[in-house]
Amino acid sequence: MSTQNQKVALVTGASRGIGAAIAQRLARDGFTVIVNYAESAEPAEALVRSIQQAGGQALAAKADVSDPTDVRRLFDAAETAFGGVDVLVNNAGIMQLANMADAEDASFDRQIAVNLKGTFNTLREAATRLRNGGRIVNFSSSVVGLLQPGYGVYAATKAGVEAITGVFAKELRGRSITVNAIAPGPTATNLFLKGKPQEVVDRLAKLAPLERLGQPEDIADAVAFLAGPDAGWINGQVLRANGGII
Ligand code: NAP
Repeated sequence: MSTQNQKVALVTGASRGIGAAIAQRLARDGFTVIVNYAESAEPAEALVRSIQQAGGQALAAKADVSDPTDVRRLFDAAETAFGGVDVLVNNAGIMQLANMADAEDASFDRQIAVNLKGTFNTLREAATRLRNGGRIVNFSSSVVGLLQPGYGVYAATKAGVEAITGVFAKELRGRSITVNAIAPGPTATNLFLKGKPQEVVDRLAKLAPLERLGQPEDIADAVAFLAGPDAGWINGQVLRANGGII
């Protein structure tokens, strides 16, 4: 495919986990991919190299999504390198669990900053800079439905993302841009596995009637659907990709 015809996808938090699987999948589907990261420069560069070796186009771009100036520069970098952005995947996120009694201010502030303000920051840029006909995929979580103890602050950030998804879909009237959210269930990444004893991981893996954890590629498949040609009539929706846990 020629450079001029190729659509450009910006994937936040794409250095590892679900975001890396999304970047790989969208590159395979023919998108030029901006691989955003905050800290993990080496994995992001390695991912870009592997996409290029497979014949795709990609660029690694550092930006902390919680910082509006960084996010503005991220869009600048995409426009400078590839002329614009067609697909925005707001995948970057963090999770810090604690029951309310033990929850700390810094943890509350950081989860709001990355998960909710980070999504706000990229959507505000996208409002004027995403090309007409584009796609936006935000990241919620199935914990918004499950409401397990310890997930209060994290789930609140994701409930905010779901609300903003529906509102923004309407604000983009006339631009032919769809705005949806994916809400994964337990997925085998560092975010989910870190700090959990094996028996907890095993119990959570059995929650789904499909009796396994999600893999990053399962979520990438769902994102590829929403970003691709078959999802043009799906707008303002939240898709729970979780093997059936809720
Ligand atoms: P992960 O393995 O921890 O990866 C997180 C990614 O986000 C990394 O690439 C990280 O890059 C990036 N990131 C973190 N803070 C950032 C920031 N401030 N600015 C830019 N990038 C940042 O997490 P994951 O499991 O793949 O999660 C991806 C998304 O799915 C998140 O929104 C998460 O809430 C959601 N989700 C995950 C699960 C699950 O079970 N895994 C379930 C439901 C929803 P650096 O290393 O460079 O910081």
